[in-house]
Amino acid sequence: MTKVKPSIKADRFEESVIREMTRLANQYKAINLAQGFPDFSAPDFLKEYAKEFIDRDYNQYAITWGTRTIRHALSKKYKEFYNLDYDPEKEITVCCGSTECMISTMLGIVNPGDEVIVIEPFYENYGPDAIISDAKPVYLQLTGPDFLITREKLDKVFNKKTKAIIINSPHNPTGKVFSESELNLIADYCKKYDVIAITDEIYEHIVYKGKHIPIASLDGMKDRTVTISGVSKTFSVTGWRVGYILAPENITKGIRKIHDFLTVGAPAPLQEACAKAISESNEYYSKLKNFYKERKDFFYNALKHIGFKCIEPHGAYYIMCKFDNFGFDDDIKFTEYLIKEIGVAVVPGSSFFSDGNPEKSKYIRFCFCKKMETLENAIRRLRKLNS
Ligand code: GLN
Repeated sequence: MTKVKPSIKADRFEESVIREMTRLANQYKAINLAQGFPDFSAPDFLKEYAKEFIDRDYNQYAITWGTRTIRHALSKKYKEFYNLDYDPEKEITVCCGSTECMISTMLGIVNPGDEVIVIEPFYENYGPDAIISDAKPVYLQLTGPDFLITREKLDKVFNKKTKAIIINSPHNPTGKVFSESELNLIADYCKKYDVIAITDEIYEHIVYKGKHIPIASLDGMKDRTVTISGVSKTFSVTGWRVGYILAPENITKGIRKIHDFLTVGAPAPLQEACAKAISESNEYYSKLKNFYKERKDFFYNALKHIGFKCIEPHGAYYIMCKFDNFGFDDDIKFTEYLIKEIGVAVVPGSSFFSDGNPEKSKYIRFCFCKKMETLENAIRRLRKLNS
């Protein structure tokens, strides 16, 4: 038997807890409210477009940084929605989902030892992304229920070694939508310390309260911002793996090289289909918002009624809850109990916090991007917690 072990780097992080919960949900036949993916159909128009491009034999590699059509559609959309000008030839890159966008960006800009600020709680990929790219993650710890960014908190984490800050708004897992004044505060520090803002805006069209503001649109920020988004959440196609990056030309150059050698490109016919959908979806976006608001209102109220102490999300499709009144004080044990005994899978909150954070084991996260019927069934099962 070989004595070869996984690399030191691979040994420094664990498998994704979110994706592990999906495996457990399947194993125990629990309703999967863990990993954030819809259980309903994608929009018919988008599926028709995909069929059309497969029938037309769009089977070979697309241009590595994305088809011309999707880059042009995105350039037009960012102008219309956010008044941001991006050159489709030099400043837009399409990757295999926003997950690849993030790691390509990190590898494209970070040098060993650079500090990267990660806002905590954080989407679990950002920690391993920092390790893979040899960055030193520095956690900016926010506390609930408001998770407010303040000058004092920023003072603690920004310094001469800071290369980038990862922002995620609307935020997974808390549902926070960062306000203009908070984003302006971050922007001030980015400008003062010459730091890049890497912003994951994958939930940009799922906002219930407040307004989504791309940090790139704030004064002096476009030149130092990498904006990441994609079609996964907006068009309910998380398995299509089409994400994109908008960034200034000098930054895009590095990112494109990394992306090319990592994956060559995202699926060609699906990029074409998404290009068409992105060009004509203005009405769709407002319907999407209402669709999720109905689910958020129902699920948030029902969880509260059962006795969970929930943070009401202002955006995205997750609800973070404290559960101490059910006789558990550990998120992993409680998650196990929910999956095996109650039949509902969630994500233990600890996967969104760094070690040593006093909040680490106090939360679980539900996702509600599901059919009403699925949410109603889950609530029926969760009521057993009170019997
Ligand atoms: N964003 C989703 C979540 O937080 C999952 C993404 C993934 O597993 N790639 O659940």
